[in-house]
Amino acid sequence: MDFKLSDEQRLIRKAARDFSFKELAPNAREWEEKHHFSREVFEMMGDLDFTGLYVPEEYDGTNVGRLTAALVFEELAKGCYATAVYLTVHNMVTNLICQYGTEEQKERWVKPLARGEKLGAYSLTEAEAGSDAAALSTSAVRKNGGYVVNGTKLYVTSGGVADVYAVMVRTSDAHKSKGISTLIVEKGTPGFAFGPHEAKMGLNASPTTELHFNNCFVPEENILGAEGLGFNFAMTALNGGRINIGACSVGLAQQAFDYALAYAHKRQQFGKPIVSFQALQFMFADMATEIDAARLMVYRAASLMDEGEDCMMEAAMGKRLATDVAMRVTTDAVQILGGYGYMKSYPVEMYMRFAKIGQIFEGTNQIQRVVIAREITKYKGRKRPDSY
Ligand SMILES: Cc1cc2nc3c(=O)[nH]c(=O)nc-3n(C[C@H](O)[C@H](O)[C@H](O)COP(=O)(O)OP(=O)(O)OC[C@H]3O[C@@H](n4cnc5c(N)ncnc54)[C@H](O)[C@@H]3O)c2cc1C
Repeated sequence: MDFKLSDEQRLIRKAARDFSFKELAPNAREWEEKHHFSREVFEMMGDLDFTGLYVPEEYDGTNVGRLTAALVFEELAKGCYATAVYLTVHNMVTNLICQYGTEEQKERWVKPLARGEKLGAYSLTEAEAGSDAAALSTSAVRKNGGYVVNGTKLYVTSGGVADVYAVMVRTSDAHKSKGISTLIVEKGTPGFAFGPHEAKMGLNASPTTELHFNNCFVPEENILGAEGLGFNFAMTALNGGRINIGACSVGLAQQAFDYALAYAHKRQQFGKPIVSFQALQFMFADMATEIDAARLMVYRAASLMDEGEDCMMEAAMGKRLATDVAMRVTTDAVQILGGYGYMKSYPVEMYMRFAKIGQIFEGTNQIQRVVIAREITKYKGRKRPDSY
């Protein structure tokens, strides 16, 4: 196992870090408070080639791979976690259409998505189908060379601001998961509308809305692959998505750690910097150890995916650990700042609110345990006994 990054990976990581600290970090608090989504920032990320990270060059992407993408998301999350998160979803959708779409679909959607001209969103969840996503009921009934879609989807990242939506719908009641298909629906399609931006604990620079389908006609050329394949597509996409959320959480945790450490060097109590108290030093020691463990686990899952290996278990482990670590580390960062940590004039309370969502979306951490346990049972505990 090689932990050394290539020169190219270091360069891309530096570009992401520079952008994050120059364009995201100074604005993250204001965007959060004003619930402001910046299209301009998305376009800037397109100019930096961050919008088609897994898409081959022939479809206007850069195809830098999962590990390099993880480095990008980690750096962006340090500046603005909400921005990093919606960019991961955009890349997930772009890749989904690129992987399973026809040449026409790639021309029409993948190229503008990869160039950052269009923004992508992913819609699986419904009111009665969250963790049990295969229970979804939004219906797509065949009619006149297309599908008539009816139903409501819930909690869609970039809802309303995205241009292209990968929507999981039910095309057959005969089977639960095998009756699900993926339709690509464009903003502006008649019968397709959005709910208001949800009022959330955090992540407000990234709008989350319902999608409403009311006799919405979607032409058959908008189906991805074939009928019945949608649930597989959705789960495959989420596998990579979990690595990305893990990477964002590592970046967020690192940012909270760095902020708290710098503060602890400056803040004086009892006539000395608070960093000199061993109680706080041990907190920092644990935070640093856990961030490192999470980072290595996320990088390993990303590397396995780059090598074309099945990494279902490692992606779930990485997501579970990294998001739990981000929650612990950001909570400790608030503690280290004391009363100041609780104030909105310092960023750590915002980091803590950001961290919570990582444990919930792209499969809750209970569901990650379900996935890990399933794989452990399948492989009798040691999936790769020769490699680690
Ligand atoms: C800000 C935000 C953005 C989101 N973005 C998107 C998006 O872009 N696209 C999209 O499709 N969805 C999105 N979601 C939805 C998200 O993925 C779901 O909220 C999540 O999967 C959990 O589903 P649920 O909320 O229905 O919770 P439920 O499934 O109702 O779970 C409730 C509790 O029960 C537990 N639980 C459920 N089943 C089991 C089980 N079998 N074993 C153990 N515990 C279990 C859960 O872990 C949880 O603690 C987003 C959600 C939020 C909050």
